[in-house]
Amino acid sequence: MQKIFAANWKMYKTRSQASQSAQELAKGLGQMPAGQEVVVFAPFTAISCAADAFKGHAGLTVGGQNCYPAEEGAFTGETSPAMLRDAGAAWVLTGHSERRHIMGEDDALVARKTIFALEHGLNVLLCIGETLEQREAGKLNAVLERQLAAVFAAMPASLGGAALVGKLAVGYEPVWAIGTGKVAGPKEVLDAHAVTRALLGKLVGETASRLPILYGGSVKPNNAAGLMALDNVDGLLVGGASLEAQSFLQIIGA
Ligand code: PEP
Repeated sequence: MQKIFAANWKMYKTRSQASQSAQELAKGLGQMPAGQEVVVFAPFTAISCAADAFKGHAGLTVGGQNCYPAEEGAFTGETSPAMLRDAGAAWVLTGHSERRHIMGEDDALVARKTIFALEHGLNVLLCIGETLEQREAGKLNAVLERQLAAVFAAMPASLGGAALVGKLAVGYEPVWAIGTGKVAGPKEVLDAHAVTRALLGKLVGETASRLPILYGGSVKPNNAAGLMALDNVDGLLVGGASLEAQSFLQIIGA
């Protein structure tokens, strides 16, 4: 299974700060071994800076944090998949909890973005996850199922199944663990990743075993190894602790 270490820089870093961080990562990582990939989800303005710093480094790639599901048009403030690719991005995040909960994106829009981005040559890290209220109400499985089903129900046959391998990864991010310092415990992560794998199995059959599932939510250098050792954890999505290159390097090294 492909292993992915993803950094979400959120709305941080000017172009020069992004160049400096990406150069530090490139220096620290060199070339990634086959089957491992590091993806930095940079703010739009800094994508090209990070991509320049990663040139010539196998397995180091850049992604956008959002895109709009149209080729071009009167969509003020939005960015198309082709524009992201032109800036040097190979990936895009969809369904991040900050977009679902702060920007009000619903499952249908997340599905449209995911499918459009895949159709237009980007790899997608699709984020799913429950709020604390949903977890406490016993709705974890139902929420993950609803979020995944919305995407796969709308997926054209040409994109689905084995065609998704190497192009789609899923990020399980409990909303209550993002940016709060409250990492999910091993049992919570194991259970949620097993549920996610089983749901993917229902939706895409045996291809499910080949789609990486990343954990995200307060990952730090001191908990990364323990998380990566858990079944069905194929990578990590790191926000706050990825902003300092040295701390993200420690997480990858763990
Ligand atoms: C994220 O932004 O996806 C994230 C997991 O953030 P943090 O690591 O800061 O919790």
